[in-house]
Amino acid sequence: MNFELTKDQEMFQKMAREFAEREFLPVAQEYDQPGKYPYEIYKKMAPLGLLATMIPEKYGGLGLGVLTWILMLEELAWGSLSLTAITQNAMLPGSVLTDAANEEQKQKYLPPMCRGEKIYAVAVAEPNAGSDGGNIETKAVLRGDSWVINGNKVFTTNGVVADMVIVLVQTDKSKGNKGLGLIAVDKSCPGISAAPIEGCIGLPCDDIAQVRFSDCVVPEENLISEVGKGLKLALGGITNMRISIGAYGVGVSQRCLDICVKYAQDRRQFNKPIGSFQLVQALIAEMALETEAGRLLTRSAAYKKEKGMKCIKEVSMAKWYCSEMMMRNTVKAIRIHGGYGGFEGYTVERLNREALNFLAPGGTVEMHKLTIGRQILELDAMSR
Ligand SMILES: Cc1cc2nc3c(=O)[nH]c(=O)nc-3n(C[C@H](O)[C@H](O)[C@H](O)COP(=O)(O)OP(=O)(O)OC[C@H]3O[C@@H](n4cnc5c(N)ncnc54)[C@H](O)[C@@H]3O)c2cc1C
Repeated sequence: MNFELTKDQEMFQKMAREFAEREFLPVAQEYDQPGKYPYEIYKKMAPLGLLATMIPEKYGGLGLGVLTWILMLEELAWGSLSLTAITQNAMLPGSVLTDAANEEQKQKYLPPMCRGEKIYAVAVAEPNAGSDGGNIETKAVLRGDSWVINGNKVFTTNGVVADMVIVLVQTDKSKGNKGLGLIAVDKSCPGISAAPIEGCIGLPCDDIAQVRFSDCVVPEENLISEVGKGLKLALGGITNMRISIGAYGVGVSQRCLDICVKYAQDRRQFNKPIGSFQLVQALIAEMALETEAGRLLTRSAAYKKEKGMKCIKEVSMAKWYCSEMMMRNTVKAIRIHGGYGGFEGYTVERLNREALNFLAPGGTVEMHKLTIGRQILELDAMSR
């Protein structure tokens, strides 16, 4: 792996940092409350390609690689994690559509998404199937030339604001994973409804929703790829999401470090800056070490994915390490701020709440440990 970034990657990274400083920092606190979806920011991201970095140019994206994309995410997450998370709505459905949709579906869905005109979501998780995604209960039955879908999805990011939801359905329970399919359900289809799941403490402006399908009728041609490939295709998109959470962890940790270095230089106790005390320096050193380790893990996973190399283990390592790392670093950042750190209005308090919400999406830490174990041992803890 080459540690040097290309000129283009450096330019894109710089542009993302400038965007975060200009568009995120002034409003991050304002969006740290429920009820306001950041449409305005979403619209500003589109012309810069921040929503469609990896989508092929043919469909309106920039056609850049995974590594460039995560460099951008790291910088955006440095500015605000909850505002960066709105890019997920382009990334996750965008990845699934790019990898698996037919030409007609790509032409229909990708260009308006890249322009920031349409928002999509991917709905896999259900009340009784989270980590065990293959065990979903949402049913799709082919009647004539339409799918009829019944079931409930939970935790669907952008479920309410989405114009279209890619839903994982079971077409024949007796076939297990071979019965699973992905169907693009336009919000105009009869029988789909969505409601916000209130009370997400760290991402109040993001739209985390429950999506219901009640005799929802969808044209047959909205099936993405073919029945039997649904879980694999959803997980393909989720692989990118896992790498992106690695970049989120790095961006948030770098922000903690930047804030804490300044605070430790300015705040004085015992007639000295607190940063001159060895125990405070140890906290700063631990944060710096972990941030760099997370950065290397994430870039290594992104590099392998971009080159088409096997990267299941590396992706799981990046997701696991960085999602926990940002928790550890945000807590250390609060400690360095003494009693002030845990109060609203102190950025480090918000960073800690935002970080909390990225332990589960893209798979829990425990599931990633099992994935890494399976890759190393060639034994599957989850086989039934
Ligand atoms: C902010 C947010 C956004 C999300 N966005 C989306 C989205 O857009 N689309 C979507 O489909 N889903 C989304 N999710 C759902 C997410 O993918 C699930 O929360 C996640 O897969 C875990 O499922 P669960 O919450 O049902 O937990 P469970 O699967 O019930 O797990 C509970 C606990 O049991 C542990 N556990 C489960 N099975 C095992 C095992 N075999 N061995 C050891 N431990 C185990 C888990 O690690 C965890 O600690 C989102 C979640 C959040 C919080």
